[in-house]
Amino acid sequence: MTLKLPIYLDHHATTPLDPRVLEAMMPYLTTDFGNASSATHAYGWKAEAAVELARKQVAALIGSKDPKEVIWTSGTTESDNLALIGVARADTSKGHHIITCVTEHRSVLDTARYLEGHGGRVTYLSVDADGLVNPDDVRKAIAKDTILISIMAANNEIGVIQPIGEIGRIAKEAGILFHVDAAQACGKIPMDVEAMGIDLLAMSAHKVYGPKGAGALYVRERNPKVRLEPLFHGGGQERGLRPGTLAVPNIVGMGKAFEIAGGEMEDEAERLFKLRQRLHEGLMKALSGRGGVTPPLLNGHATKRLPGNLSLSFLGVRSDALIPQIRDVALSSGSACASLETAEPSYVIRALGGDSERALSSIRFGIGRFNTEEEIDFTIQKVAVAVQSLR
Ligand SMILES: *Cc1c(COP(=O)(O)O)cnc(C)c1O
Repeated sequence: MTLKLPIYLDHHATTPLDPRVLEAMMPYLTTDFGNASSATHAYGWKAEAAVELARKQVAALIGSKDPKEVIWTSGTTESDNLALIGVARADTSKGHHIITCVTEHRSVLDTARYLEGHGGRVTYLSVDADGLVNPDDVRKAIAKDTILISIMAANNEIGVIQPIGEIGRIAKEAGILFHVDAAQACGKIPMDVEAMGIDLLAMSAHKVYGPKGAGALYVRERNPKVRLEPLFHGGGQERGLRPGTLAVPNIVGMGKAFEIAGGEMEDEAERLFKLRQRLHEGLMKALSGRGGVTPPLLNGHATKRLPGNLSLSFLGVRSDALIPQIRDVALSSGSACASLETAEPSYVIRALGGDSERALSSIRFGIGRFNTEEEIDFTIQKVAVAVQSLR
């Protein structure tokens, strides 16, 4: 069998649409085009019913008992903005302090910076050498004026999974709202807003084989009811928290993508984990032991990581030189958003400590639903040859 090139191993940046998702979306792109807010005819009713089914599907994946807690947005960037800015503006009587961490996605970090420029105060917790936040550090950072703790569930570069349940417990005990960026986690690892004490949870469809431009923010309704100031003002959709005509086809796609991910999560995690082990072991074997060559270094915790994530640093080889040598595999050094700007070493890998060489030589492998063993073996060979030639 011939491989379709380039092989896609950048599933943290985005994922292809699952054909089952496209099939679910098709009627709403064609015949069933109604506005979900049109209450006077069948076109509107049909669109509304589809949106409400999707809301149930998303709520089910994250353990929300009340689908009304799911607010549609355009994606995690918007959801993170709505969560942080919305909480900061909703109630200014308690204070302006937010606790987050240095390895968050830019959609949290840049929003936190924005709030700092508008009277907010932010504590950026560091991470340990494995990329993990210490829950005790969260506890110690809590002050009288703390209004929100924002920690991501799974990192988009190094895949590490933060102790969300523990941090949620700390937030609950202190009576502080807890926001989680779960763009990489939803559909990949179990997420449960009740068990984990989460008050706000941001998600995107396109990281889980759904369409781009569709996302949601979970907003807790009781124990406690989260008060949010909307960012947009308009037609009152989404209980006024996010007005604007709903993107019905995208929302239907997001619901279907989340339903599929929930149903297949266990099997898929096991399959992705095996492919990751194969890739990791294959690269270690191909690149170790020859004349004292340094084997690739693993970035992030060895086991507390997304099943499909492998982040390696090939010391002595810069990733911006390596990636162009491997044209047959679609790879990235780190976050797709960071690479828009500069060839700056990854702030996430720098946060793990160690030297900047490690950050400059990192490659992120993101294995996904449609990758095969054959593709992994091809990748091992291509990467090993390129690393050896550049060293
Ligand atoms: C992709 C991603 C985002 C941004 O999601 P968009 O859909 O591009 O808005 C935010 N946080 C994390 C962790 C991500 O992986």
